Formats: sequence, C-alpha cells, structure tokens
Amino acid sequence: MTLAQAPVALRQPIDGRHRKMFVDGAWVDARSGRTMETRNPATGAVIATVPRGDRQDVELAVAAARRAFDGPWSRYKPYERQVLLLRIADLFEKHWEEISRSDTTDMGMPIVRTLANRNRVIGMLRYYAGMATSLHGETVENSLPGEIVSFTRKEPVGVVGAIIPWNAPTAASIWKIGPALATGCTVVLKPSEEAPLTPLLIADIMNEAGVPPGVVNIVTGTGPEAGAALAEHMGVDKIVFTGSTATGQSIVRASAGNLKRVSLELGGKSPVIVCADADLDRVVPVAAMSVFANSGQICIAGSRLFVERSIHDEFVARLAAYAEGLRIGDGIDPATEIGPLVSEKQLQRVASYLQAGTAEGATLVTGGQRLMEGALAAGNFVAPTVFASVSDDMRIAREEIFGPVISALPFDTLDEAVERANNTPYGLAAGVFTRNVATAHQLSRKIRAGSVWVNTYHAIDPAVPFGGYKMSGYGREGGAEHLDEYLNTKGVFIKID
Ligand code: NAD
Repeated sequence: MTLAQAPVALRQPIDGRHRKMFVDGAWVDARSGRTMETRNPATGAVIATVPRGDRQDVELAVAAARRAFDGPWSRYKPYERQVLLLRIADLFEKHWEEISRSDTTDMGMPIVRTLANRNRVIGMLRYYAGMATSLHGETVENSLPGEIVSFTRKEPVGVVGAIIPWNAPTAASIWKIGPALATGCTVVLKPSEEAPLTPLLIADIMNEAGVPPGVVNIVTGTGPEAGAALAEHMGVDKIVFTGSTATGQSIVRASAGNLKRVSLELGGKSPVIVCADADLDRVVPVAAMSVFANSGQICIAGSRLFVERSIHDEFVARLAAYAEGLRIGDGIDPATEIGPLVSEKQLQRVASYLQAGTAEGATLVTGGQRLMEGALAAGNFVAPTVFASVSDDMRIAREEIFGPVISALPFDTLDEAVERANNTPYGLAAGVFTRNVATAHQLSRKIRAGSVWVNTYHAIDPAVPFGGYKMSGYGREGGAEHLDEYLNTKGVFIKID
C-alpha cells in the first residue's frame, strides 16, 4: 500500500492578491515572471493576479506529469486511487462554500447556483471513486490454431492535457481530473484566463488530500500561449477540451503532431420544443431558465425555442413576464437569480447579437440592452432578452450567443419542428415539453443531439453520458464510456500449449 495518510493542509501562499500556479506539487510563478489579472465581473474590480504561464511552464508541467505517471503513481492500486478520490470528495464537502464563493466572484455565477451544484460535483467524485475499482478487461475466445489464451487489458492513456472554459470552472475541472485519477492517468489542466481561481483552489484540495506531486498540475495562462502549447505537446497522450467549436477545431489540428487522442465538448444552439398540450405553468420557468441560468453562459442553453403556433403568443408573453421578474445583480447576494456576463469582451459579443436581432427584423419582446442602473453599471449585466418573430436564417437563431437571449420560433407540425430543430451544425442538447408519451418518444428519438430532456432541462448525472453530436464535439463525459476515454485497450495473446 503506497497511499500516504492525508498530510496537514498545505494552502497556497497568497501574496497580497497574487496566486501561484501548481506544478509538480509546488506553488510556482511563470518562468517568464509574467502575470495576468482576473476580475470580478459584477464589479469590474481586479480580484487577483495569476501567473501567465506559457510553453516553458507547460513543458515543466508535462515533464512532471510524465515522471509521476511512470513513477509512484503507476504503483497506486485501484483501491488506493478510490480512497484518494473519496478523500477529495470529503474535502470538497468541507470547502464547498469557499469553492462556491470563488466561482461566484471570479466568473459571476450566482451563489445560489454555485452552492446548489454541490451534490452534482461531489457526486461526480464519488462516482469516479466507485469506477476506479471496476475497471477490467475481458477474456476473449479466439479461433487461432493451437492453444492461445487471449484477453484485453485496460491501461491508462498516460498524460492528459485538460483545457476548460470559464462558465463552470469547478464542474469542468472535476469532469477532467476525476476520470484521470480513477484510471491512473496524470493531468496538466489549463483553466480559462477569465476564471482561473477555483482550479487553483482545487489544486489546494488535491494537495490536502495527499495526491502525489505531478499527478495533478494546474498551469494558468492564455489559450494561444499555454493552451496551444499543451494541445501541440508531443509528450501529452490525450487532450480533453471543453470550449468553443472554433477552438476545438484548432485543438484537433494541433493534436496531429503526435496523433494524441482528443475528446471535445463544444458549443451548441440547442432547440426546445414546446407542444400545445404542455403544462404551461410548469414549462415557462424551465424554458426561461434553460437559457437565462448563468446569464446564458451554458453550452446547453435552450436558445431556440420552438413553440406550437396555437400557444405561441401566450407562451411568449408569459416568458417575457417571467424574464422581467428575475432578480439581477451581484451573484454574491443570495437573492440574485441572474449575475453578470464574465467579461467586457463577452458583453460586447452579446450586445452585437442584440443589435443583429433587431436589425434582421426580429421583434424584441423584452430586454435587449445592457443594464446600467446604479451598481449594475460597474459590471457586465445584460437584461434577460426574448425575441419573437424570429426566422431560422437569422444570426440569433443560428449562432451560439452565450448570453441570456431566447429566440422564439412558432411551428405547426411535429415533423416540421424536428426538421428545423435538427437544421443546425450543432447537436449538444434538446428539450421537449409535452404530455403525450408517444410524442416524447418520437421526438427524443428523432432529435440529433447528445442529450434530450423531456419535461425537464439541465438534468446531468455522473452515471449518464453527456456530449455532442455533429460540431458539438465527440467523446462522452459521465457514465462508463467516460472512463474509456482515458483508457487504452490492449489485446494480449499467450501461447500455452
Ligand atoms: P474558448 O474556446 O474561447 O476557450 C476555452 C479554453 O480554451 C480556455 O481555457 C482558453 O484559454 C483555451 N484556448 C483558447 N484558444 C486556444 C488555443 N488556440 N489552443 C488551446 N487552447 C485555447 O471557450 P470559452 O469562450 O472559454 O467558453 C465558451 C464556449 O465553451 C462556448 O462555445 C460553450 O458552448 C463551450 N462550452 C461547452 C461545454 C460542453 O460541455 N459542450 C461546456 C461549457 C462550455
């Protein structure tokens, strides 16, 4: 048994507002000495500086991950990795409020929501802990002459490069680190430059749990510098990426050097289909929050809302009333339902879509502008927005906005709704609202998306695979398939006669 007892907590040294990154079990600055700022999007205030790591730092982190993979970590038994994951889960429970506050101040998600993600994230860790002791190959009957036994072994792929976006830093980190630890891989994780602080806090927790040096490394830096260096690195065996489709495409190109394995969780333009028989009292809040939650900065945002024509006008009016009743403000206030967008850049991007919607002839039903009253003026706040009279070819109906913007589109028949719902390069998720069980089955079968939710939305569970069709990516997170993404299958033949 190599599993060390959990050492006394080794918190990262915080020098004023400066945080360091975590490489080979040590808190370090970038070799170049450069730093970058991260701001609270609700107030505009700089909260911290972090190292602006680049190629040299990625080099060191990958080397440390390789040493750990080839060395002490390779001797950890599945049971020991399980114990470690369970210990990490317990520490997440202990530090959950701190983690939640960190996400809220760094990227704006309301604290009610970051706190509420507790069971989901800790559940993931415990799920991976369970999976650590259920990895297995198979004996396979072969037709070879003589007596030859054949079987498969599942082996960790090696050093995993993980690149994550800003919109859910905790869950995204754990969706990468959890399966890596369960399977015996090592990780170099690059957080988004917009929200690097919680991944650094997670490094603290790894340290506190006794994860050996080099097994989990966090390199902060920008995408074109640290991210691209990781994607290209010849010593990285696999890249797991969550982010935009455009960046995903550049990761695939960068990965070609050593043909590393790649899995991609990318963007979406998810359809929500509301049938006339749906229970509107229940559907309106769910359909609204499928987009407005996290100010629309969710990959699965149900941003194309197809509503059966006979209920369209009433539905849109109710949706607008719901949007206007949402409490908008600094997410650290427990009363806040809608926080800011992550950055000034994201604000400009969303504003350009608000202008495009009106310019292309959609009807602005509610919202449509930046909020500038009182304290909101200091942050990146946009009013929850509903456009009606949207046609399928408008930019707001085709492109991922990543902001609190719903496009309502009337439909007449279910076949038409399905055809239009599938008429997108994306295929991440979809919602269907109906009381007819046959419609529920038919639509969930015909919609080309990795997740389909019927009479609910946002349901994500560690045991159920999540991922994209088409340009929303490939590979799955969650479920047994997720662990396979981190494993190689080896065929072994032993001649015994
Ligand atoms: P992004 O693609 O701009 O950045 C994501 C990460 O990639 C960041 O860490 C960034 O630094 C890094 N990066 C940027 N350029 C890079 C490059 N050339 N090489 C390597 N790394 C690079 O995405 P974002 O703006 O941070 O996040 C929003 C996007 O993420 C949206 O499109 C959203 O749909 C998607 N997303 C998808 C999922 C999912 O599970 N499918 C979940 C969350 C977010």
